[in-house]
Amino acid sequence: MDLVLLGGRVLTMDDAAPRAEALAIRDGKIVAVGDSSHIAAMTAPGTEVVHLAGRSVIPGFIDPHTHFSTSAFEPIAVDCRIPPMRGKAQVLDAIAAAAAATPPGRWIWGYGYSGRRGENPSDLTRRELDRVAPNNPVCIFDSSMHCCYVNSAGMDVAGIGRDDPDPDGGEIRREDGDPTGTLWERAMNPAHETSMGGLIDALGDEATADLVQQTGMRYLACGITSTGDAAVTPAAARLYEIADRRGKLPILIHQLRSGDQFFAAPERAAHGEVGGDYTSDRIRAGTVKIFMDPVFPRLAGVQFHPDGRQEHLGRPYYTQEQADDLAMTAARNGLQVAIHCLGTWAIDQGLTAIERANAVSASPDLRHRIEHFSMGSRAQIERAAELGVLAVVQPSFLYAMGNVMNAARLDLGLDTANTPMRSMLDAGVNVVASSDFPCGPLEPMLGIHAIVSRHVRDVAEPVAPEEAVTAEEAIRAYTLAGARAMHREHEVGSLAVGKRADLVVLSNDPTAVEPRYIREIVVEQTYVDGKRLFDRYGRQVAVAAAGAGA
Ligand SMILES: [Zn+2]
Repeated sequence: MDLVLLGGRVLTMDDAAPRAEALAIRDGKIVAVGDSSHIAAMTAPGTEVVHLAGRSVIPGFIDPHTHFSTSAFEPIAVDCRIPPMRGKAQVLDAIAAAAAATPPGRWIWGYGYSGRRGENPSDLTRRELDRVAPNNPVCIFDSSMHCCYVNSAGMDVAGIGRDDPDPDGGEIRREDGDPTGTLWERAMNPAHETSMGGLIDALGDEATADLVQQTGMRYLACGITSTGDAAVTPAAARLYEIADRRGKLPILIHQLRSGDQFFAAPERAAHGEVGGDYTSDRIRAGTVKIFMDPVFPRLAGVQFHPDGRQEHLGRPYYTQEQADDLAMTAARNGLQVAIHCLGTWAIDQGLTAIERANAVSASPDLRHRIEHFSMGSRAQIERAAELGVLAVVQPSFLYAMGNVMNAARLDLGLDTANTPMRSMLDAGVNVVASSDFPCGPLEPMLGIHAIVSRHVRDVAEPVAPEEAVTAEEAIRAYTLAGARAMHREHEVGSLAVGKRADLVVLSNDPTAVEPRYIREIVVEQTYVDGKRLFDRYGRQVAVAAAGAGA
């Protein structure tokens, strides 16, 4: 035996044997799950023994919707989040400091800005960015990732002309006809793709791979052993290939293939034409990402009036026919579709597109997904259950923005609460949890805390406590449900004999503590394929002699 873990509270997520005390691992796979005395008897000379001392073990977290490729550059990008930054002036100072230390001509990236928060909330302007970074192209992403702010050099390098017309589904914001530097939605596409490619070129393959490895370590520190990148463009695909070929991808990436640019229509992907992109044991594919609605200027929503009238607001990226066409094309080619739907109108279109895709799918079990399902009505929850849709929701948003989102729902007259996990599970929806990091906090334990306790950041009282789920249900949404969303439940998602030994050691058992203290539970160790890749305390674990450790 290579490794045994003894004396713990193991939550397996395996219905056949949901609880255990110990695990045995050989060649990266789980070979036994059971009580400590039984597993201790399997140790031999050279077996590593981890004494859990009552700690909890769960399957490695699976986060099927993050933006790993974007966050990979965070270590060399400017942190523009408000809070903790106070406002625009402080953000501009930070960009100026970065510019002073960056070779001329190299892209400067920033992340997390919001023109709607902090002191004197307003967008970063092209001229402000020109002033603080006169010699570099600059691209600062909005916290929503649906908009960015560029300087003049950024526009030039990305090939965005001052007089270019707005793309369909995007806007080059202007004042008196002059671009302000704010690029909404598809107008952001060239800046995102060109700058990511430019950063990879400037860094070179070795440093790029190192960044990916660091980012993987950051995920492992949260207990995440697999993630889905929810918009893989050609530049992102290149990033993954570079890292994997150098053995610097510590977690598994499932690619949700978007168009040739971030928000572009995934036409080639739906036809399976980019299915031949580099894949490996660590890099998976098979999913097509469709963005159904924007954030700017607003979601494609529905206002439910008290007299029963329904008013459509905003505009989806696609007509119903266009969306059906993309989804059906992908399904005919045996590809799963994952449709980003924030507003109620977008969810309607997404459900219809999936219904039509189901009818023509090359295989009956493609498991089409709606990403976010943020502003769903009761009727839509029931329809999602009927269609067998996977709803990939963000407990992280509930935690970070629970009060804001609840107010928005009330304004729209929606008949559901924010992140209605209880209602969705009770209706029979396949609910999957994710972070959408960097749009929400990465830590699954924060999401589990939010959907179990309904206690969220900056709010004293729990938000819609009737929507609480059990800790067991929450962990399942972050593990086995995520594995199903990636078609990987045969290899990960629960702790059962024969599966990969991807697992997390938690300081306490989330099912045993008072729910509002779940967020204080710490990820202590994370294992991938039986290897301990993260250890919070860096401690040396004794290698037991034969028979020891019982
Ligand atoms: Zn996303």
